[in-house]
Order: sequence, then C-alpha cells, then structure tokens
Amino acid sequence: MALAKNVRLCKRASLHHRPKPARGRILHKFADLVEQHVEELAALDTVDAGKLFAMGKLVDIPGGANLLRYYAGAADKVHGETLKMARPCHGYTLKEPVGVVGHIVPWNYPTTMFFFKASPALAAGCTMVVKPAEQTPLSALFYAHLAKLAGVPDGVLNVVPGFGPTAGAAISSHMDIDKVSFTGSTEVGRLVMEAAAKSNLKPVSLELGGKSPVIVFDDADLDTAVNLVHMASYTNKGEICVAGSRIYVQEGIYDAFVKKATEMAKKSVVGDPFNPRVHQGPQIDKEQYEKILKYIDIGKREGATLVTGGKPCGENGTVEEAIQKANSTRYGLAAGIVTKNIDVANTVSRSIRAGAIWINCYLGFDPDVPFGGYKMSGFGKDMGMDALEKYLHTKAVVTPLYNTPWL
Ligand code: NAD
Repeated sequence: MALAKNVRLCKRASLHHRPKPARGRILHKFADLVEQHVEELAALDTVDAGKLFAMGKLVDIPGGANLLRYYAGAADKVHGETLKMARPCHGYTLKEPVGVVGHIVPWNYPTTMFFFKASPALAAGCTMVVKPAEQTPLSALFYAHLAKLAGVPDGVLNVVPGFGPTAGAAISSHMDIDKVSFTGSTEVGRLVMEAAAKSNLKPVSLELGGKSPVIVFDDADLDTAVNLVHMASYTNKGEICVAGSRIYVQEGIYDAFVKKATEMAKKSVVGDPFNPRVHQGPQIDKEQYEKILKYIDIGKREGATLVTGGKPCGENGTVEEAIQKANSTRYGLAAGIVTKNIDVANTVSRSIRAGAIWINCYLGFDPDVPFGGYKMSGFGKDMGMDALEKYLHTKAVVTPLYNTPWL
C-alpha cells in the first residue's frame, strides 16, 4: 500500500520542469543540510549497522554531501547532441529523465548507497522510491526529511522501508516504475532482473558482489603492501563489496608479508563502534556473523591455515599466473595491484576483467570515478558522469531541412 501511494506521488511529482540551475541549487541546499547533521546521521548508521562512528563522521556522511554537490554541478549540463546526418536533415538528441526510479540498496553502506543512487537520479530530473535495507532504514528516512527541507518537491524522493521479498520485489515488478537501480547480492540481482523482465521490461542496473583480488609483487614495499591489504580486507568489518578477499603474494616477499600482516591483524581492536579507540565494530547481524564463521570453517577444512589466511600454491609466481588467478572467478568488481614496476602495473591492469583497478592504493573512490562491475558483479555504473546516463533516455529528433522533400 505504501509503495503504491509513493509511486503515484512520483508520477505526479517532478523536478524535471524546474529550471536546471534551480535543481542544482536544491541539491546544494540538500548537501548543506547533510553537512549540518553529520553527527546525528553518523550515529544513525552506527546504531543500525555497527559501523565506526568516526568513519561515518569523516567519510560516509561528508561523502554523501560531496556526491550531491558533484551532481548539483552536473544538473544544468545535461544536453543532447546535434547529429551529422547523411540525408539533408536536421537531427539532434534530447536527454530526458527515465521517469520513476526504484532504488533498492543494501545495509553495508546505508548513506553512501543512498547517495550513489539518489544524487544522479535527482540531477537527471527523475522521481524515485528508495528502499533501504531492512537492517538499516534510519538514515534514509532522515535524508527524505532533509530533502524536503532543501526544497525537493513533495513526491520526488520517497523512502519506503521494508523487507526484500515484499517491498523490494514490489518495486522490481511494479508496472509504473520505469527503472530499477539495485545494489546487493548476485542472487537477489537475478531475481530483480527476472521480475523486471516479467513486468514492464524496465531497464535494470545491478551493482553486485565481488571476490576481488589484490596482487602483491616481489618488488613492492613491504609496509605499503601490508597496510593496503589490511585496509582492503578489514575496512568496514570486511562488509564491503570490494573487499580484497583473495590476496596473491609473490614468493620472494611471501613469508615476510604473512608475518607482518598477521601481526597487524592481531592488533585490531574489536568492540563498541562509538569508542574512538576501536578499529572494528560488530558485524551487521547474527546471520552474517555466523556466515563468516562458517566460511572460516570451510576454509580450514579445505586446507587453509587460519593464521596466515592461506598457503602458497603454484610453482613460480609469474605475472601471467597472477593474472590467471585474479581472473579465475565469476566476479569482476575490483582488483588491487602492489608493485613499483610500471610495466607490470600497466599489463596487469589491462588484463584483469574488473570494473575498478587500484594500483598501489585501494578503495580509490571519488565522485568523478565511475564504479561498477564486470561479469557477475553486475552492470551499469554508480558515480561519475556514467551514473547520470543511467537515469536519462536519449530521444532522437529528425526533421528535413527547409524545402527538402522527404520522399
Ligand atoms: P541482498 O541482495 O540480500 O539485499 C540487498 C537489498 O535487496 C536489500 O534492500 C533487500 O531488502 C533487497 N531484497 C532482498 N530480496 C529481494 C527481492 N526478492 N526483490 C527485491 N529486493 C530484494 O544483499 P545483502 O546481503 O543485504 O547486501 C550485501 C551484498 O551487497 C553483498 O553481496 C555485497 O557485495 C553487495 N554490495 C555491492 C555493492 C556494489 O556496489 N557492487 C556495494 C555494496 C554492497
């Protein structure tokens, strides 16, 4: 019922007919309000998701405001092209909002995911229903309130909390929703796509899970490599789609790397996420916690040594072998490469089939950098100008030039 009412509101509401500078101004105002409420918003995400309060304050919430500002600047730069036609015609394209968008988001980054979806869609002039994950609805509800205060017209941005199989499924099968932008697991992404195909054939973009490799070459600086891999694996309790979950370390540096990485992992303080001395809060819920324990158990039964996170395999650690291992997955979200050799970095980055490659860094996110996967990690980008395109239709307009007969 709540969804039906919100979709009706979306169909009546519009940001599209507002002059585009006004749209940008509203998005900047929205960003101002987010910045003025950093503490409360970070606290909501900490309470809901067990995320570190300090990270929310420094990264997630300001990052959401930055995304709003990035797309505020783009709102008045959405335009089509003049076409060079072979026939004596005037041809051009118009960029139009796709209409009512359904955003379905996961629990690991409630704020970031909200703004990955809502900011480009607002800049494109779409109306929308956002369904936060059932574990983390609080900040999304607060964002809807701030959007209203910023001047987003009623009905443009609606938040409908609820469970996946009910509220989420209703969005993907709804006949009046024109596009679904989904972030979550590959299994549910498949269900969303099926529902879209069986209803109104709405386009779907999917940001799905990953199994991202980080490759450390012999020539890497040991401290840099250990720090990067630690960050890749443990950021946000490992609850991050781009987590470095397969670490390949070349033979020459392997033993020293394992020793140092183990020492560093042991120093991590787990506890209350509001405590500034804590590095890692609780997992999102008992279900995920037990899933992690199960995977550790499976790993041990399959022969992994828990203390080092794996055992060496393969005879010679060559670049080709690293590429082959990195690509030996159905996923293709992100990959890290740690080396001082520019030729190796260039060769490997071109050979890995993943949407984001981070060389001598990890989590290289930025509003201007498009983010999204290859293979079973999904399709369609968040962030960057690519994300704006997701929420726009291209309309081709053709008319014969004066006095030119069409037939
Ligand atoms: P999930 O797929 O179970 O849930 C994600 C969202 O889908 C939630 O809002 C949920 O309520 C909804 N949902 C569940 N069943 C549904 C259905 N039948 N129809 C429609 N919607 C439904 O994912 P999760 O386990 O909660 O989230 C973690 C996953 O998200 C991980 O796989 C992670 O890798 C992925 N993720 C990917 C990215 C990315 O950008 N690629 C970013 C963050 C998280």
